[in-house]
Amino acid sequence: MSTATTTRFGAELRAICGAANVVDDPALLRGRQVLGVVPSTVVTPASADEAAAVLRVANENGLSVVPAGGFTAQNMGRKPAQVDVLLSTSRLRELEHYDAADLTIGVGAGWTVADLAAKVAADNLFFPGDPALPERATVGGLLATGFCGPHRQGYGGLRDYCIGIRFVTGDGHKAKGGGRVVKNVAGYDMMKLLIGSYGTLGVITSASFKLFPAPRQTRTFIAEFPGAAEAFQFRNQVLRSPLDPICLELVSPGARQLLHGFGSDGPWLVLLRAAGSDPVLARYRAELGSAVARELEGINEREAWRALSNFSHTVEERCPQSLLLSLQLPLREVGPILQQLATVSASLKHAVIGRFGAGHLLVALWQPSGSTVQAKAFADAIAGLRHRLPIDASIAVLSCPPEVRADIAWIATPTHVESMRVVKKVLDPNDTLNHGRFLF
Ligand SMILES: Cc1cc2nc3c(=O)[nH]c(=O)nc-3n(C[C@H](O)[C@H](O)[C@H](O)COP(=O)(O)OP(=O)(O)OC[C@H]3O[C@@H](n4cnc5c(N)ncnc54)[C@H](O)[C@@H]3O)c2cc1C
Repeated sequence: MSTATTTRFGAELRAICGAANVVDDPALLRGRQVLGVVPSTVVTPASADEAAAVLRVANENGLSVVPAGGFTAQNMGRKPAQVDVLLSTSRLRELEHYDAADLTIGVGAGWTVADLAAKVAADNLFFPGDPALPERATVGGLLATGFCGPHRQGYGGLRDYCIGIRFVTGDGHKAKGGGRVVKNVAGYDMMKLLIGSYGTLGVITSASFKLFPAPRQTRTFIAEFPGAAEAFQFRNQVLRSPLDPICLELVSPGARQLLHGFGSDGPWLVLLRAAGSDPVLARYRAELGSAVARELEGINEREAWRALSNFSHTVEERCPQSLLLSLQLPLREVGPILQQLATVSASLKHAVIGRFGAGHLLVALWQPSGSTVQAKAFADAIAGLRHRLPIDASIAVLSCPPEVRADIAWIATPTHVESMRVVKKVLDPNDTLNHGRFLF
């Protein structure tokens, strides 16, 4: 963007959002880099109307816009050639509706996940979204990335409990999918497309969710297994039983070495988190039998699950040269893919955790110490996994070493990527949003 355009555009943005909410002083923008690219302007609209006006101006001027929430996942995708406007959602903080009796809430996209959870917890209600770093991750970012943490087992994915999304298209029109009440399903497919669109189809300005009664108490049962096969047998036994855990997490020996508090060495673990009264928890204990080696409650339990939710960021911190993948799989494929992993990444070390009773795995791959990062080994591992994946599965690269970023296929790939491309042409005809970062 030329200086002349910056000045003209800056003036228009100030007229829309107020001078205090438009920053284009380069000295103040360095901390807001997107994959090393300093944005020309950061603008912070306070409403959907302001966001729409900003996008209209950007669209008409051929500027690129990157929506930004808590900045916990801005290192995904290809490096953008330039970022003209970083559109921060931090002022989209309205409480649009809240009906505790009807178990529904609607909030601005700039709410952090932790604030939303605390708001409803005051009424003994529960919001199951459990991203890494919930104090920073926003509702908009959560929906845009579409990932779920360990609660996926008991509460489903975002598409199950998000009931409506309000958004602004790339060319600056306000739109919505779904509604504010559970029974309203009009526009549902549009809502589903926005979830996991990585900020390429629209800027999410607010969303409505179904809530759940807060569990009275929880307990986590930890089982240990010499190999993955035994862990899968245990999973199948649980899934066939009347038990209905809220989390069921697989932790590989490699993952134990990376996670804090899981022992630096040891066999495969399965953590099962149950909710209910004392008799219900006693029933779990009896049903699970001798497989259970330990139980966690209270602060120890919360810390263990927090560590699992933060796994990917721990990997980035402790193993910055690793490739981190998120795999969404049909249940029947989870076991075979784990077997495949050993074959396709023979020269690499790996760590795996995931909601293996719901088909979501996080896989970290890295070179053994001493060897240099080889893009080919990573690319081969991705290709090997993709080759094995059925059509109804997806694989997304969450992070990779900077040296191989340009060579990795950033296949942040929802299964419906083709429909995404078609929808992108309609909603964002000039490719204003997250230009060039993803495949759609
Ligand atoms: C390495 C890595 C690991 C992750 N691990 C997990 C995990 O274990 N569990 C989990 O649940 N999630 C995980 N995520 C996903 C992500 O951290 C969370 O979903 C989080 O909620 C993102 O929120 P944010 O506000 O920080 O988004 P940001 O980092 O600000 O943005 C993330 C993406 O969403 C877009 N975006 C942000 N806000 C909006 C909006 N309002 N409208 C449209 N697009 C928007 C951005 O353009 C960007 O593409 C991971 C992400 C990464 C990169």
